[in-house]
Amino acid sequence: MEDKPLAPGLYLVATPIGNLEDITLRALRVLRLADKIACEDTRQTQKLLNHFSIATPTISYHAFNEASRAEELTESLKAGARIAVVSDAGTPGIADPGSQIAQAAIRAGVPVFPIPGANAALSGLIASGLSADRFTFHGFLPSKQGARRSLLEALPRPTAEDSTPTTHIFYETPHRILETLADLEGIFSPDQPIVLARELTKLHEEFLRGTAASVRTALASRAQVRGEMVLMFAPRAEASASETRRPTISEAVQFIMQRDSLSEKDALKRVARERNIGKSDAYRELQREQSRAKYL
Ligand code: SAM
Repeated sequence: MEDKPLAPGLYLVATPIGNLEDITLRALRVLRLADKIACEDTRQTQKLLNHFSIATPTISYHAFNEASRAEELTESLKAGARIAVVSDAGTPGIADPGSQIAQAAIRAGVPVFPIPGANAALSGLIASGLSADRFTFHGFLPSKQGARRSLLEALPRPTAEDSTPTTHIFYETPHRILETLADLEGIFSPDQPIVLARELTKLHEEFLRGTAASVRTALASRAQVRGEMVLMFAPRAEASASETRRPTISEAVQFIMQRDSLSEKDALKRVARERNIGKSDAYRELQREQSRAKYL
């Protein structure tokens, strides 16, 4: 069957996020017929093109040359070129370069065509078991703890006026996920339900579903935390004062030990200070809780 000709314009082409079978027939046709493919990383995309025997020339288009390249590509587009844009994996423009060239093309009156396909956020969401009726995608969480906590603290929770939960979706890295889960425990609650989708569409695809505390403990017990990941959760309504159970001294100590990598002694000192009680009172209460727990 002969390929239909490709209209001039900018094509934002989604590529697989792991499983090569997730490329679409339309994406292959566009990549084959485009004059040029602008890639986040030409070597990465070349592997995909070789796999599908596509010989279209590539040029680089990444975070560091996005603005200048957008200008240059727009000139070619105005002259009638067909240019495809791909990122290393998934949908261009989603936590990846793509939006600047789309904006430049639109400003220049050039048609922009989405070529939909794989995306980690939506793939994670639809299989998470969380509500997809209303969701917010945030991309990557800030790497600095202060900014990360502020963002998490500001997430809206269901209220009496608007009780529909919102599922929040984040991209996260293996080296930060334990810290982020500890932040979630502190800001929402250790029993805040979460879903962590790892290695979507790949051989070791995995969904960790549970509370922030149980998922963090499960990950921390692994020799190494690896893989690409999407973190999802829907904050619950603020518990009324009468429903809120204050964490026990032992829970508070465990939480601070893990979050701030402190010894039990130092964590206990901090809990005592935060609760405005003496260190020895806090220690006695901790011992009482621990001996009670033995008999439960
Ligand atoms: N444009 C891509 C998309 O449409 O999903 C996202 C690119 S962003 C630079 C890369 C991040 O997406 C990873 O750090 C990870 O959080 C998430 N991600 C990408 N592929 C994934 C996969 N196979 N499984 C889980 N998360 C993935």
